Amino acid sequence: MDLHSDLLRILPATRVHTRLIDRIAYANDASYFRLVPQAVVQPKSIGEIQSLFKFTQINKIPMTFRAAGTSLSGQAQSDGILVDISKHWGKYSIENEARRIRFQPGIVGGFINAALKPHRRRIGPDPASIDACMMGGILANNSSGMCCGVTENSYRTIHSMTFTLPNGFTLNTASPNASQVFENEQPDIAKGLLELKQRIINSTSEHRGETLAQKIRRRYQMKNTNGYLLNAFLDFESPLDILTHLLIGSEGTLGFIAEAVLNTLSDYPLRYTGQLYFRNIQDAASAIAPIKASGARAAEIMDRAALRSVQHHHGVPAILSQLPDQAAAILVEYQAEDTGSISAFVKEAERVVRQIKLLHDPEFTDDPTQAFALWKTRKGIIPSIGGMRASGTTCINEDVAFPVERLADAVTDLQRLFMDFGYADGAVFGHAKDGNLHFLINQAFNTDADTRHFDGFIHAMVKLVSGKYDGALKAEHGTGRNMAPFVETEWGAEAYAVMRDLKSLLDPDHMLNPGVMINDDPNAHATALKGMALVSPKIDKCIECGFCESRCPSRRLTLTPRQRIVVQRELARMRLAGSDSPQADSLSKDYNYAGIDTCAADGLCETACPVSINTGEYIKGLRSDAVKDESSALWIANHFALAEKSIGLATGLGHVAEKLIGTKGINSIIRTAEKISKITLPKWNNAIPFPSASLSGIKRRAKDTSRAEFIYFPSCISRQLGIPAGERRKSLTETFLTLSQRADISLSIPDDVIGTCCGMPFQSKGYRAASQATLHQTIQKLWRWSDGGRIPIFLDTTSCTHALRTRGDDLNEEVKIRWRQLTLLDGVEFLHDHVLPKLALHPLQDEIILHPNCSARKLGVDGKILSIAQRCVRTATVPLNLGCCAFAGDRGLLFPELTRSATEKESTEALAREYDGYYSSNIPCEMGMSEATKKQYLSIAYLVEKASRSS
Ligand SMILES: Cc1cc2nc3c(=O)[nH]c(=O)nc-3n(C[C@H](O)[C@H](O)[C@H](O)COP(=O)(O)OP(=O)(O)OC[C@H]3O[C@@H](n4cnc5c(N)ncnc54)[C@H](O)[C@@H]3O)c2cc1C
Ligand code: SF4
Ligand code: SF4
Repeated sequence: MDLHSDLLRILPATRVHTRLIDRIAYANDASYFRLVPQAVVQPKSIGEIQSLFKFTQINKIPMTFRAAGTSLSGQAQSDGILVDISKHWGKYSIENEARRIRFQPGIVGGFINAALKPHRRRIGPDPASIDACMMGGILANNSSGMCCGVTENSYRTIHSMTFTLPNGFTLNTASPNASQVFENEQPDIAKGLLELKQRIINSTSEHRGETLAQKIRRRYQMKNTNGYLLNAFLDFESPLDILTHLLIGSEGTLGFIAEAVLNTLSDYPLRYTGQLYFRNIQDAASAIAPIKASGARAAEIMDRAALRSVQHHHGVPAILSQLPDQAAAILVEYQAEDTGSISAFVKEAERVVRQIKLLHDPEFTDDPTQAFALWKTRKGIIPSIGGMRASGTTCINEDVAFPVERLADAVTDLQRLFMDFGYADGAVFGHAKDGNLHFLINQAFNTDADTRHFDGFIHAMVKLVSGKYDGALKAEHGTGRNMAPFVETEWGAEAYAVMRDLKSLLDPDHMLNPGVMINDDPNAHATALKGMALVSPKIDKCIECGFCESRCPSRRLTLTPRQRIVVQRELARMRLAGSDSPQADSLSKDYNYAGIDTCAADGLCETACPVSINTGEYIKGLRSDAVKDESSALWIANHFALAEKSIGLATGLGHVAEKLIGTKGINSIIRTAEKISKITLPKWNNAIPFPSASLSGIKRRAKDTSRAEFIYFPSCISRQLGIPAGERRKSLTETFLTLSQRADISLSIPDDVIGTCCGMPFQSKGYRAASQATLHQTIQKLWRWSDGGRIPIFLDTTSCTHALRTRGDDLNEEVKIRWRQLTLLDGVEFLHDHVLPKLALHPLQDEIILHPNCSARKLGVDGKILSIAQRCVRTATVPLNLGCCAFAGDRGLLFPELTRSATEKESTEALAREYDGYYSSNIPCEMGMSEATKKQYLSIAYLVEKASRSS
């Protein structure tokens, strides 16, 4: 059987991936398991899903759905066909005055909440991973988090869904007569579900003193995702309602959720947050019941190990480092719709605090900034422990639930278990209000002894949680392969038999995600374990959580940051095993384009990474390693003024050529040159700006240097490409000068600014020496221009500001001392903080859309772009799909397909209606977005100029 060719009968070649690099890239999710799929496919329609079901059953090859792959229990992996739904299932609509939201499964949960935010609504499920994980995974895992408990999860808030069963049957449960249709068209399944229901109700045999029905009712008062949601059989009467609710939490083992509608909830605007410190974990655990009864929406317990892991973090309460050895804390939050309700909660909190034994006076606040600092403690635990772990170990995040009244003893027992198994860094924390505790341990899987050790721990943990406390072995992360061998231990033989029969009823061939939930292998939890080969200190701390993926501009074209790391780990493993095999060669060769060339090196991955990994920096290092001879780059760096003039000349010629032979004509010449030289060359596009007018004329308009309030450093890109394409306008430099004159601010543009550059063009291509030489020369000039740091300097291109502000580590000590004393502002800050307060604005009736680029977001000036815009126009929109355009200097010219792919969603949103203007603060991004949308993106300075004209 040739799997690739066979799958091409169902899907086009662009959506069937069987190259080694793709299979390795998708082998890992956030769990400690690893299965390499035989193929990765990306269906777009229900018809294709139905064909895939049929194909797997005929060919006896397993299939698994994957959304964002952030699952922790091994349920989003396959050694058969992995069905990636993260690329094509992203539609949504807000309905019934935002009381409901309809969505496809491949959309990130945080995005849905952002779309609901203006309506002051949100979805109920609130996993900590919500900004990375997708709705398909949230529903299929019945995910929950700090506030959701057992009343706001997907099971409780589902309104309706469209599903496809393994036999191909598809139904929208909200369609007219859906129940009737289901019972008529699927009589065996409908009858089977009712029989299972009766079996549960009629069962009189007892396990641990309870009938099955009693046990189910009691256990689902607590969070539980171990096994199928058997409460559906008791909570609902009709077979269709039962099935709909069983699909929730079924971890993709019973069918495909193609679309769903959730009822939304109030997004409480008011919060009252406090951190309570206790002498020991027992005192803390005993306080949970009264705190819960007082109406707290969140009560997060943290043991001393958890607190210790974050006490050195900037911005956490100082008291953490002074707490005694056995101390513990609870973070409490009340949330309310209106001031009356929040005041009532404040009183409740005061009453409860008087009742409980505290180590210190409580710290409560209604100030969002202070509350943020308190949450920093809790939210920092996973990254901190994950980041501190020894390289080569895997961070395992377990997730159990105990009856709240037995929490204190349970935590003590867990801590003892860590000691017994030598997990010195083991830490306990979690949603104590729901009895839900997480614990983190770091474990290597390099030897058989490692695996045996881990196996011993899991057995002891199961005995403790299930045997001693009758708790849930998985409260929110799903059963997966991790707890599949222990579902029967927790639930008893009768309940487990119901679950097995349910699986066989819906998926008689057992080809859908086999081994997850139901698994006959008693060692499944310790099989197919993930090793963590060492690659580079820059990426070795990666815990493969996948949080970075949704931010990455190359995610829809080639690889995500996590996948870039995973493939490097595999290459390291192959090298370690001494396999200089064709496989390693093919992997390395394909990585050049997928991993290296198409990384925009924008570092957006770092902004989402819990352990602060900037995969872009690592990739730049690989580019550097590949540079064999840097002499030409160094020559250019040392003669940058000449290079700058050539760029201006070439761009001018390009525009002439564009008039004569058009964009297509130029690019066909470039492609021929690429074929001959075997070098990737920049492609032309009609968003490329015109070279700026000579600076000398402009400089005369700047005021006397000796009295300058600011130094204006027009970046090399604005000096050479400063006049936007399309309609003829003044250059960016002239626009900034005009604005300064209107605001009566004196500027100086230094005489020797030509030939000065931040070094980024060299750095992003891996020319380390050229980049550092340029950077050092520039900082020395900035020092001189600014009169030893006295006069602030501003730049008009945000990515250059970002580069100059963040490259301190690349400087030698002497220059670094000077760099630290410079005040380097971005043009956005200059406009917002210095120009606007002195400018008479005449707000326009315009409705505009913004692209606050990734450098602006990383510098934290994106809010100022919005604020400038809001003062200039009637409405300013920041797209929900705002991303990185991946233009990244010239990468968008070298690999235009990268920018095309990166901007697809944002462009669709920007083009959904006509705007009066399109603005950003970075010329390359303006080029990228203009090319993508065919709309003219301009610097925000042009908007301020327009809104401050005297008539
Ligand atoms: C650091 C970290 C913190 C986390 N915190 C939490 C937390 O607080 N609470 C919590 O509950 N979880 C948490 N998780 C686990 C995980 O993020 C969530 O369970 C999440 O909802 C999984 O979503 P996903 O998109 O990544 O799904 P995936 O991992 O891709 O898939 C999850 C399951 O859903 C199935 N599936 C996906 N789409 C469909 C579909 N359309 N139809 C049928 N089946 C489908 C898959 O086959 C798989 O079994 C955390 C994970 C990490 C790494
Ligand atoms: S790079 Fe960071 S965010 Fe991405 S998978 Fe690794 S740890 Fe998670
Ligand atoms: S630097 Fe940008 S393109 Fe590269 S991996 Fe990170 S987010 Fe993706």
